[in-house]
Amino acid sequence: MNKKKRIVIALGGNALGNTLPEQMAAVKITAKAIVDLIEEGCEVVVAHGNGPQVGMINNAMAALSREDVNQPNTPLSVCVAMSQAYIGYDLQNALREELYNRNIYDIPVATMITQIRVDSDDPAFQNPSKPIGHFMDAAQAKIAEEKYGYIMKEDSGRGYRRVVASPKPAEIIEIGAIRSLVDSGQLVIACGGGGIPVTRQGNHLKGASAVIDKDFASCLLAEELDADFLIILTAVEKAAIRFGKPDVKWLDDLSVEEAKAYIQEGHFAPGSMLPKVEAAVRFASSKEGRTSLITLLEKAKDGILGKTGTRIHQ
Ligand code: ADP
Ligand code: MG
Repeated sequence: MNKKKRIVIALGGNALGNTLPEQMAAVKITAKAIVDLIEEGCEVVVAHGNGPQVGMINNAMAALSREDVNQPNTPLSVCVAMSQAYIGYDLQNALREELYNRNIYDIPVATMITQIRVDSDDPAFQNPSKPIGHFMDAAQAKIAEEKYGYIMKEDSGRGYRRVVASPKPAEIIEIGAIRSLVDSGQLVIACGGGGIPVTRQGNHLKGASAVIDKDFASCLLAEELDADFLIILTAVEKAAIRFGKPDVKWLDDLSVEEAKAYIQEGHFAPGSMLPKVEAAVRFASSKEGRTSLITLLEKAKDGILGKTGTRIHQ
């Protein structure tokens, strides 16, 4: 019997939208793309980002603590947990409906609240770089620094934003539970928003003020589940060299070495395409036969059939 191909999908911002109504509409399209892959005979595991959502939750919780003196500020790790539940709810609701619409009744859908351990001495903690939440002017930024101890950085002439550390994922705490569900044929949503960052203190896991990159978290999930494919679904059909320039070249098929060379030459923007290509290279290098694919959400099926996207392999 042919073993089903196991795929970890990393959903980007465009799969989820920026607001509550946008997300509710977006997940319907996302669910179609995912169930297309299931109908192709793939075993699918879903991970996703949370940039706009965690910013929104963080701002809402900050507003609550401004209004009510009894409510202290909400730790970022808790905001990530809230975003996992909120996004997981919309996704599992839409996926279940889409499966039923196609007369597939034997694949239960579940979201796993996922903690991911990071190293407390990860250098990222000394150099917070990931902007979250809304833009502020200089005066608002100063208040945020003084009142909440946020680190604020000017963001390319557009104003100030809070920046947080983005450490590398070291260990998925709930991997055993995720594996059991996946192995028994369930459709699992896990490692949302890059996972809830925690550091180990003996038996205690302490929430960290950080946001893990979802591309790296998805890569670790794919490695741990011994997946065949890591598919990073985003807002472009392919990664490119000389992106945004007249002589742009869209990339179809890359060896790990070619991809590494393009990374060295600085073709991929940090914070957007670079972590995807880095995660794709890491997964493809991790074991023979593993392939990474970067493509557009709507092209996921064409991508898996080898018709489009940027493929990275050994
Ligand atoms: P996601 O929410 O899916 O993580 P990002 O916005 O973080 O999406 O990253 C995808 C974006 O990366 C694309 O929409 C594109 O504008 C940008 N990008 C930067 N460099 C490149 C490149 N070399 N090739 C393709 N896209 C690139
Ligand atoms: Mg991104």
